[in-house]
Amino acid sequence: MSVATLQHRLRQQRWWRSLKWNPRWSLWVMLVALVVVMLGTLVWLAGRYEGSLIQSRLERDTAEIVNDIRTGLTRNVQRLQALQSTERSADPWRAQVSDLLRQHRELIRVEWRDPDLELLQADDTSFRQAVFERMSRTSAMQDTAQACATALRLSGPAYSGSYFMPQKDGLGMELLDLCIPLLDEGRLTGYTVVTYSLQDILTELVSRQLSRGQGLSFTEADGTRLAIAGTPTRGKRIFSAHQLLDLPGTTLVVRMDSWRGTPDFFPNVLTALVTAMAIALIAVLLMLGRDMRRRLKAESDLAEALAFRKAMEDSLVTGLRARDLQGRITYVNPAFCEMVGVEAKELLDHNFPSPYWPPELAGAYQDRQAIRLASASLPRGGHESIFMRRDGTRFPVLIIEAPLINATGKHTGWMSAILDISEQRRVEEVSRTSQDRLQATARLAMVGEMASLLSHELNQPLAAISSYATGSLNLLGDASDTNMTLSADLRLALKRIGEQAERAGKVIKSVHDFVRRRDQVREPVAPRALLDAIMPLVSLQARKLSVRVVIEVDPACAVVLCDRTMVEQVLLNLARNGMQAMQAEPRKTHAHERVLTLRVKPAPASETNRWVEFSVTDQGVGISAEVAEKLFTPFFTTRAEGMGLGLSLCRTVIEQHGGYLGHDAAKPRGTIFRFTLPSGPMPDHPILPATPSQTTHYASEFST
Ligand code: ADP
Repeated sequence: MSVATLQHRLRQQRWWRSLKWNPRWSLWVMLVALVVVMLGTLVWLAGRYEGSLIQSRLERDTAEIVNDIRTGLTRNVQRLQALQSTERSADPWRAQVSDLLRQHRELIRVEWRDPDLELLQADDTSFRQAVFERMSRTSAMQDTAQACATALRLSGPAYSGSYFMPQKDGLGMELLDLCIPLLDEGRLTGYTVVTYSLQDILTELVSRQLSRGQGLSFTEADGTRLAIAGTPTRGKRIFSAHQLLDLPGTTLVVRMDSWRGTPDFFPNVLTALVTAMAIALIAVLLMLGRDMRRRLKAESDLAEALAFRKAMEDSLVTGLRARDLQGRITYVNPAFCEMVGVEAKELLDHNFPSPYWPPELAGAYQDRQAIRLASASLPRGGHESIFMRRDGTRFPVLIIEAPLINATGKHTGWMSAILDISEQRRVEEVSRTSQDRLQATARLAMVGEMASLLSHELNQPLAAISSYATGSLNLLGDASDTNMTLSADLRLALKRIGEQAERAGKVIKSVHDFVRRRDQVREPVAPRALLDAIMPLVSLQARKLSVRVVIEVDPACAVVLCDRTMVEQVLLNLARNGMQAMQAEPRKTHAHERVLTLRVKPAPASETNRWVEFSVTDQGVGISAEVAEKLFTPFFTTRAEGMGLGLSLCRTVIEQHGGYLGHDAAKPRGTIFRFTLPSGPMPDHPILPATPSQTTHYASEFST
């Protein structure tokens, strides 16, 4: 498919979419229908009004025409009566009558008859052929006699009913007789009979102005036309008016017809005006419709743009926040709401302090905001701040702000982009910690070097002490009889010196091995033996610090596989730390007893491995969360004389054995340190006497 066809199809689709039914269209259709109906009604009413105007004018004209005819007839009666006053001799009568007939074309014939209606004299109009030629005058005499009878009764002129008189040319005409009695001092001397042509009455007596372009006729009561004058202009609509012409002795109906022609489609100014207005209105409607289509298109474009903007805002991970010049929030995007854990509505409604300001910093933030809003310029690179989530946790953010300029170029507020930089901070923290650890490792390496040097240097003096102790014992053996008790005491003391010197030698060797990372020697040791080995040193310190030491060993415990000397060091270290913690706790009463408990029990075991758990419980000051965080960090100590290496070394030793070292708070106070060691194969003989069916606790007291 070519590009042009594709574009054409697209255009077509868009056009169809623009035609899609919209609720607004129904309003428009209703409006157009209403306007059309209204305009139709207006034109129809205007037409009707115009028709009624024509009708009333026609009625008026007809009334005037009837008036004209009546006036004309009356005038003729007067003229004819004037004939009576002249001498009734033949010649002067004729002369006058022919004069009258010449002047008045509507008069067809004038007769002078005696009282018995016998014709004395007669004269016909010279404008026509004699009308009574085809049919004799006597054929119409009946009407004439009736008129004369009426005239005699009225003592004045009277008319006969109209009658048809056929003519020689095959046509005929409608005639009307007027009879005027001739009285001489109250005595009837004869009649003047005048014959009128109805058609000529219409043409002669009616003013031309009135009859122009109209159809004028005399009709009978049933509508039969008797005489017609004038041809009306033909048109679509016909208007008719009827008027009665009352004459003494007869009544005629005058009818006037008028046609309204096609050129009079806009018959008057009113209709024309209304029509013009209607056309204008329809034009305006069309223009409005076009405008609405354009608006609809603009609206749909706008909606599309808005939807795109919204999708863009929703997918952003950067928080966006707009504020007005007073610092009130006017807009936030979903990323910002999610960041601070507060609904957009709540943020928009909220006043100062903002809900995401940590309460302790709210004052400082408000001051900072006031300064920032007062100055027009802002740092381009943004600034860091601390925000608070709804759950109260604080997190660092980077805020980049820019002035918000509206379409007219007016500064209306500030737009900020907010980045949550807690992850960045965490990474920085991790790298800083690893830096610290590197430094600590370097220091540890140095300590290791020093320790091996020391062990090397101390080995010889310790060996010497041991030899001297053995030598002294030998000497005492020789002089045993001098003072039995003294020599027994001295022998014990020297034996102890020898043991401790040997032990010190072993410790130094173990440390040396540990530092050099040689393979440690793992041997099966009974847990109790480990505790017994450290007891002399523990009890020495316990006595000094007035601590009672309690030992509990579960007889079900198997032997443990371990580097004996190092594990003894771990136990010793934990016991010392416990006693020092109790020393730090002030003694409230004398009865208040300080107890250090060393406990051994089997740990929850898995299928393949069995473990023994050692625990050292004190009633000391306890460990705060802050201290707990750095507890196993090398060189961390809270004591002035401390090295901060003890716990770190302990953990390394235990982890080298595959065990775990941890601590918990003890109830009601103090701390409990626990570590686990792998247990070895069960020895053939029991290590300590124990009742196999029940657990026995062996408590040994080394102090009071
Ligand atoms: P040192 O004993 O030289 O201070 P350690 O690594 O043994 O070094 O201990 C580190 C810190 O841990 C001590 O300074 C002390 O504050 C804390 N600590 C250790 N054991 C306990 C305990 N049982 N009770 C309270 N605090 C303890």
